[in-house]
Order: sequence, then structure tokens, then C-alpha cells
Amino acid sequence: SPSPSPSSSLTSTDIQSQDGGERIINVDHGDPTMYEKYWQKVGDKTTIVIPGWQSLSYFSDVRNLCWFLEPEFAKEVVRLHKVVGNAITENHHIVVGTGSTQLFQAALYALSSQDASEPISVVSAAPYYSSYPSITDCVKSRLYKWAGDAKRFNKDGPYIELVTSPNNPDGSVRQSVVNRSGGILVHDLAYYWPQYTSITYPADHDLMLFTVSKSTGHAGTRIGWALVKDTEVAKKMTKYIELNTIGVSKDSQLRAAKVLKVVSDSCKPSGSEDECFFEFTNHQMSTRWKQLRMAVQKSGLFSVPELPSQFCTFLGRAFEPQPAFAWLKCEQEIEDCESFLKGNKILTRSGKHFGFSPKYVRISMLDRDENYNLFVQRLSKILS
Ligand code: PMP
Repeated sequence: SPSPSPSSSLTSTDIQSQDGGERIINVDHGDPTMYEKYWQKVGDKTTIVIPGWQSLSYFSDVRNLCWFLEPEFAKEVVRLHKVVGNAITENHHIVVGTGSTQLFQAALYALSSQDASEPISVVSAAPYYSSYPSITDCVKSRLYKWAGDAKRFNKDGPYIELVTSPNNPDGSVRQSVVNRSGGILVHDLAYYWPQYTSITYPADHDLMLFTVSKSTGHAGTRIGWALVKDTEVAKKMTKYIELNTIGVSKDSQLRAAKVLKVVSDSCKPSGSEDECFFEFTNHQMSTRWKQLRMAVQKSGLFSVPELPSQFCTFLGRAFEPQPAFAWLKCEQEIEDCESFLKGNKILTRSGKHFGFSPKYVRISMLDRDENYNLFVQRLSKILS
């Protein structure tokens, strides 16, 4: 997540500045600037021009359940899922949101009951995405309430389980873990794209969340989409966004539509003049993971998860997961990995923010080359 480090009070100016000759390296945020390289190569193909007389109306498509959904954006979402084969769009409504963050909140609103006697429990298996608890409880809603680690959840009654697959922070492929009825599942599939993990089947869950932030790297455009089977749930999510922001920026939707179109075009089976976006970025991630594993080996103080290789139906080859984050464990007697790395001028996010042990930290793998290379270099030099 892009939110300022929960563990450090340094400003961006401090982070940029020289400190005792050695720069502080920030790998805490999940800011996807690594993708700039591909988009610079593609050049003007993604440029759009929006004249001043366009996009004035609040409305995009009054016949659609999600009346602020730009038809062009919807069309490209359907096409991209078909090209990649990572999700079924048939029998699902598309609801667009200001990032998947807004859609997550819309889902909580839509899945909870207005006349329940107490708030519905919201759970996710630890380590879970660190923003889930704070977003869920931010306005202390009477509708829903964060209830922590899904693996330890044993309260009776209805609940919402967030299933993040591949998972942030540890990259694992996941399924629901609360083993009883009465649960409603929300699948956060932000990272179910072939640069991170093998596409093994087209996901067909009731409520799936996606975002351009992690698929194409356009986090600043703030566009996400939900694929929702149940019409009433899709209507309620739309209502939430209507009450919250009266829709979603048309300018951003048009820009996202163009970016998704260029991605789909680049991966045409008949070939394209640009390298397929997912081939290029899969290769970038593979290089970064090799560098990280080498640094971890050289240092001897850390470990990273080993995840099984799987065949990717999209890329047509098997590869080991190469997640957007490294879930780094400090070995030996180091109990507080975040502080230890901070002592070496590397800013990370402690495992405790993910409902887990402080022996772990999360590291962003999506920063620019310059920062990432400095990070692996410095890590490899921390010796026991
Ligand atoms: N879900 C997960 C699992 C994430 O890691 C993130 C971004 N860090 C989001 C949702 C939020 O994405 P967006 O930028 O679309 O709000």
C-alpha cells in the first residue's frame, strides 16, 4: 500500500537526503514505479487527449446498473480478462471504483445487513494486507468490524472473509480458511496477473476485486474494478460509491481503458510491434527475485519463502511465484527485523502490521531500478 510508513516518521525529503554518506533506502511502500520502463518504451501509444467539452456529465451509461461505468473501460476489462484467462467476466456485473480500496469499502457496505443486531465480523488469514484492519475500522461503522486472523476466528454468526490471492505480503496462493457456513467471501485478486504468479484457472468467485495499480502499474490513476455475481450486491456497491463520491472519475476511466487496450494489443497471439506487457514485466520480476535470492544467500542472515512452481496457462511455461513483495525473515536472534534493517538504513514494514511476527518484514519489489539495486546491494553486505 502506498500509505506512509506506519513505523517511521521520516518525510520523503529525509529519505532522499544523504545520511552519514549512506542514503536511506525506502522499500516500505508498494509504489509500482518499476512499470515506468515499459510505458516509456511504448511511448505515445497510451497518450489520450480529452477536450474541455468532454466528460462534463456525472453519468456514463444510465442503462447500466453501474451508471458511472464508462462503456469503453468496461469493454477493455472484459477483453483483458479474456486475453489473460485469469477471471470469468460472464455472469458478473462490473463495478468501477476509485482504486480497489474504495471497492473494498463498497463491498463491506453491500455485504453487511442494515438491521443486524451487531456489526458483521471481517477476517483474513494472517499475514494479511496491513490496510484491511485500518480501512475496516476507520469510521467505526455499526455495520462491520475487523475481527482479525481468519485462522483463529471462532465466533458464531455471519462473517466476511477476505481472500487475497496471491497474498500481500507473502505471495502465497490462497483459499478461504474459515471452515463453516454463514461466511461471505471477498476475493482480492490484485496480484493475480502473470508477472507475479502462474495463471492456473480463470477465477469465477462471487465477488472479485482487481486494480490497475498492480496490474499495469497505474496506481496514480486510482482505478479498480469489481466483478460481482449477485445483482443486489452489485447495486448496493454502486449505491455506496454514489453516496461516497457520486461516481468515479471519467478521465481516469478513459485513461485506464486506453492502458488496458494497449496491454491486450501488446499480447495479441498474432504478435505486435511491442513486447507483450506481461512477458516484459514477468522478466523484470524474475531478474529482481534472482538478485534478491543471491543477496539473501550472500548475507546469511535472512530467508525468503520458497513457493512451488506452477504451469501458467497464459505464458505457456512453468515458473515459481515472484510476488510484488518479499516476505523477508530475519534469522538467528534478531527479533525485530524492521528495527534491525532500519539500523542498516533500510526502511521496511514490520510483520506485526500484517498480524504476524516482528521477525518478518515486507519489502516492495516494485520500486525503480536505482532504488531496488541499492537495496539488494546493501542487503547482501549485512553479514552475521
Ligand atoms: N488490495 C491489495 C491486496 C493491495 O496490495 C492493494 C495495494 N497495495 C490494494 C488492494 C489497493 O489497491 P488500489 O490502489 O487499487 O486502491
